[in-house]
Amino acid sequence: MSGLVVFVGAGPGSADLITLRGARWLARADVVLADALADPALRELAPRARWVDVGKRGFGRAVAQARIDAMLVDEARRHAVVVRLKGGDPSVFGRLEEELQALQRAGIACEVVPGVTAALAAAADLQRPLTRRGRGRSVALTTAVTADGDLGAGRHADTEVFYMAGRQLGALGRALRAAGWPAETPVAVVSRAGAPDHVASSHRLDGLAQAALLHAGRPAVVTVGVGAAAVAPAPRRAVPDRADMSDIGRTAITAP
Ligand code: SAH
Repeated sequence: MSGLVVFVGAGPGSADLITLRGARWLARADVVLADALADPALRELAPRARWVDVGKRGFGRAVAQARIDAMLVDEARRHAVVVRLKGGDPSVFGRLEEELQALQRAGIACEVVPGVTAALAAAADLQRPLTRRGRGRSVALTTAVTADGDLGAGRHADTEVFYMAGRQLGALGRALRAAGWPAETPVAVVSRAGAPDHVASSHRLDGLAQAALLHAGRPAVVTVGVGAAAVAPAPRRAVPDRADMSDIGRTAITAP
């Protein structure tokens, strides 16, 4: 009898952004196969587990993924609860498809627990809503890098959040201009979103290259379009003054 593999979204790096459900699975885990995650406090949530770091740094990517797939199957055959802990949300640029396929092939049961993806943590840090009434009706989550390592940038939504663009912000800015986004489009870059040391910066699209130094070497997302604009102070609402109110009252009283 094989055990259960639970894919848990760890959130963007700070342990307190994991879901309660995710934390409960960590507490029950026999083994945790974890991505390279920022906050060591996540480990304390899995006191009985053997913790295996499977961050892909230093391996060829394809080889590393095949090894992780095989490890998942192997651990699930030997333990009741295997947690596969992934940064952010497992369904967003997390290679979940490959890992689910490997487990399906082996007939192993799975569950997926969602997590806070980097785009949402960035919006929270910025206090800039990703959707805006009337103007920002759609949001796209896009990887800036295609499977061949090329830069892929287009215009698919009112607000578009680019992942994995950190090393090529200047090129991303140029590609987005070529795809039809105007030079003055608001852009926000947030690195280590959700963490106490997050850094956020605002730019026009034609100035995006200037963000490179500030966020160098840190995981970053780039929000482009309506959702990157700072929230403007609301116009004062017209509140009826006292005279108006008494008018209303009088009208009511004298109405037939
Ligand atoms: N599954 C993850 C994304 C993995 S892809 C999620 O849902 O967030 C890795 C990319 O995610 C990085 O290149 C970076 O663009 C982004 N990222 C991950 N953690 C981040 C963080 N704390 N702040 C900003 N961007 C982050």
